[in-house]
Amino acid sequence: MENLLTGTTRHAIKFLESLEQRKVFPTPEAIEQLNSFYEPLPSQSMKPEEVINILNNLGTPALVANAGGRYFGFVIGGSLPAALAANWLAGAWDQNAFSNSSSPLAAALEEISLKWIAEALVLPSDCGGAFVTGATMANFSGLAAARHKVLEDMGWDVENDGLFGAPPIKVVVGEEAHSTLFKALGLLGLGRKRVLTVPVDGQGRMKAEALPPLDKSTIVCIQAGNVNTGAFDPAEEICAIAHAAGAWVHVDGAFGLWALATPNKAHLAAGFKNADSWATDAHKWLNVPYDSGVVLVRNPKHLYKAMSISATYLPEGMKKEPFHYTPETSRRARGIESWAALKSLGRLGLIELIERNCRFARLFAERLRAEGYEILNEVQLNQVLVSFGSAEITGKVIAAIQADGTCWCGGTTWQGHVAMRISVSSWCTTEEDVEQSLAAMLRIATEIVDKEAKE
Ligand SMILES: *Cc1c(COP(=O)(O)O)cnc(C)c1O
Repeated sequence: MENLLTGTTRHAIKFLESLEQRKVFPTPEAIEQLNSFYEPLPSQSMKPEEVINILNNLGTPALVANAGGRYFGFVIGGSLPAALAANWLAGAWDQNAFSNSSSPLAAALEEISLKWIAEALVLPSDCGGAFVTGATMANFSGLAAARHKVLEDMGWDVENDGLFGAPPIKVVVGEEAHSTLFKALGLLGLGRKRVLTVPVDGQGRMKAEALPPLDKSTIVCIQAGNVNTGAFDPAEEICAIAHAAGAWVHVDGAFGLWALATPNKAHLAAGFKNADSWATDAHKWLNVPYDSGVVLVRNPKHLYKAMSISATYLPEGMKKEPFHYTPETSRRARGIESWAALKSLGRLGLIELIERNCRFARLFAERLRAEGYEILNEVQLNQVLVSFGSAEITGKVIAAIQADGTCWCGGTTWQGHVAMRISVSSWCTTEEDVEQSLAAMLRIATEIVDKEAKE
């Protein structure tokens, strides 16, 4: 075991040390090599060292370097050193986090991490929830609690009787709600399209004055951090209107909710603490390894009612049992990494991480704008949308930046305009990474724009 694990550690360290130099996206040849993995199920056994060697030799060249500082695609954090090390230890420990009897440590660290996250985000101190795989399942879980509560209020027991014949629920979403929110609604039988859609402004913020009539059968879904612009719905106003009508407010705050952790950004997310349930990710801005999402509910009883199960062999103690709050039962112990991340950062380190990322996003925007490129969003958080000209030119620039490999950014279409998305979310992005990436972006954009002008 010792040789195997120390050898594996060496492979991992070598990879991490290569991040500075390697192309951020693998070459087509390295991806082609992955074909060697496609073989029939082997009938013979193989030594673990040999298995790891194959994995390392074929796998490492094909890796995407999002663990490094120049990956700006989607919204993807890296892994903080303490969180990565805790993840290794947790792998060796192999704890099942479903209950206190399967792992007292996993249950304790989940409870503590959830409390710390609520504290960091300045959410109500008596809220409670669970660790899940990501914001998709956190949205699912928060909305399951909401579905329970609004139907209970109308005298319907949805967990036992299902939705057939149930009083209708009204679901209100913004026009720019995240695609995963619709998936969660679909999974809950509430329908991906059976929603009332509220128009948004140029940043993707819901217009509070355009809300439809709300009542106690309503679930309003608001967003902290639009995946393109980073913008926030007007939570203060919407929560006030919704609560006056007896409606439930659910927040999709996969990354944007973390603005609440920093005094300089908290005003952007003002009012989000007034909601009834919150979905967020730890694997995005808290920079823990994949996968890790968090659902928090103002009154955790509603989540319990939506998720709890009983069986004669399942433990029923005085302690909070994680499996009563999660869609899954057996689970890996995600609380371990979040505990390590928050313990190593402390509140001040978390603030510094978020503010640094936001500062770098501003730097990207300022420099690109100074070179004559259009920034399509108000850069208030960590997201930048840049257009290099026409849709065709912008598309070509994005493809060339991705092929160049100095950094990686994805494309998007924002309210009809093709743009490149820059998301600064990693603890390890330095100013030098930003400068190096800007130099590559500007060199490539100039080349393509000049070439197009000649043709
Ligand atoms: C990333 C994201 C999600 C989905 O999160 P996963 O962790 O991928 O499940 C949902 N909503 C928003 C706003 C996001 O940015």
